[in-house]
Amino acid sequence: MRFVFGPVSSRRFGLSLGVDLSLDRKRCNYDCLYCELSKAKRVNFFDEPADWQAIVSEVEAALKTRAPEKLTITANGEPTLYPYLDALIDGLNAIKGGAKLMILSNGSTIGDEATAKTLAKLDVVKLSLDAAEAKAFKKVDRPDKRADIEAIIEAMARFRARYAGEFVVEVLLVKGANDTETNFDALAIALGKIKPDRIDIGTIERPSAYAVQAVADETMRSLANRLTGLNARIIPARHKRPNAAPDCASPDRHTLDRIAPDHPSSALASPDRVATDRITSDCLSSDRVVPDRHSFDRVSLIDLLKRRSLSAAEAVAILDERALALLNELLISGEIIIKTQNNKTFYAIS
Ligand code: SF4
Repeated sequence: MRFVFGPVSSRRFGLSLGVDLSLDRKRCNYDCLYCELSKAKRVNFFDEPADWQAIVSEVEAALKTRAPEKLTITANGEPTLYPYLDALIDGLNAIKGGAKLMILSNGSTIGDEATAKTLAKLDVVKLSLDAAEAKAFKKVDRPDKRADIEAIIEAMARFRARYAGEFVVEVLLVKGANDTETNFDALAIALGKIKPDRIDIGTIERPSAYAVQAVADETMRSLANRLTGLNARIIPARHKRPNAAPDCASPDRHTLDRIAPDHPSSALASPDRVATDRITSDCLSSDRVVPDRHSFDRVSLIDLLKRRSLSAAEAVAILDERALALLNELLISGEIIIKTQNNKTFYAIS
């Protein structure tokens, strides 16, 4: 499988089979402070797009053995930039069976009539709206200079009016960027116009492209209280949820984590060994879904880590023993390092 991953258990969207449209590199028109992918030049188009029929065929094959609640279209970047999205959605709708078809998008292209028409064919649409103030929007999402947040908000409201499916808006908070009362008062007005079915408010949980910090729980609660009359909820960090399994499958912005627990064994002998063992054991005791574990050679493992850091739980969940040994070698040689975010350990390129 190249395009399909999972299913993974997402806190917000249930058991989801991911469909990744941008396997080889990040393709995005934003450069968010909190992006979990490595920094990359902003783009407004998908070069070398994958064949949509090949993607549908892979999903069809996966659905023969897996029964997810959702089929989630994502990308290492922005999935609505994929040029064959309309054909792909038609193809997936034809074979999805009992699963709901969903997209995770940054919302930037919703003003494009063809894109809005395409997204209206989905069962669930998740768009991001981190700021309603232009200054905060530019600071947190670092969009292409032509992006106009007022136009995006108007387009989201127009989309709501035509869209009968489940519409979720996500607000991700970064300390010192979009966590102000004025931004939230502007968001309250914008979201009152947009009228999504649900608003999810969260903050950084994983190492980001830029050195930014999460917003404190108390601040999030206080800001969320300004969205009166709207169906807003704070998504607590996984490690702060009572009885929550460790970070086996926490969602991120536009890509569902490709992880879930698997085998208990781990060849990883690193400073994090104790924590890793505990996490693996906890994950295994949950009822999560077992994914494929993968073998990586040195180049592909470094490539994976360049795109996204890997938590200790993810490492033992998705890497086979040879790849775990390689991870250890990279750690010893200094080619990768350990980073800590929210008391969790991640492996990242040094
Ligand atoms: S978080 Fe999403 S929208 Fe932002 S830069 Fe990363 S991929 Fe793009």
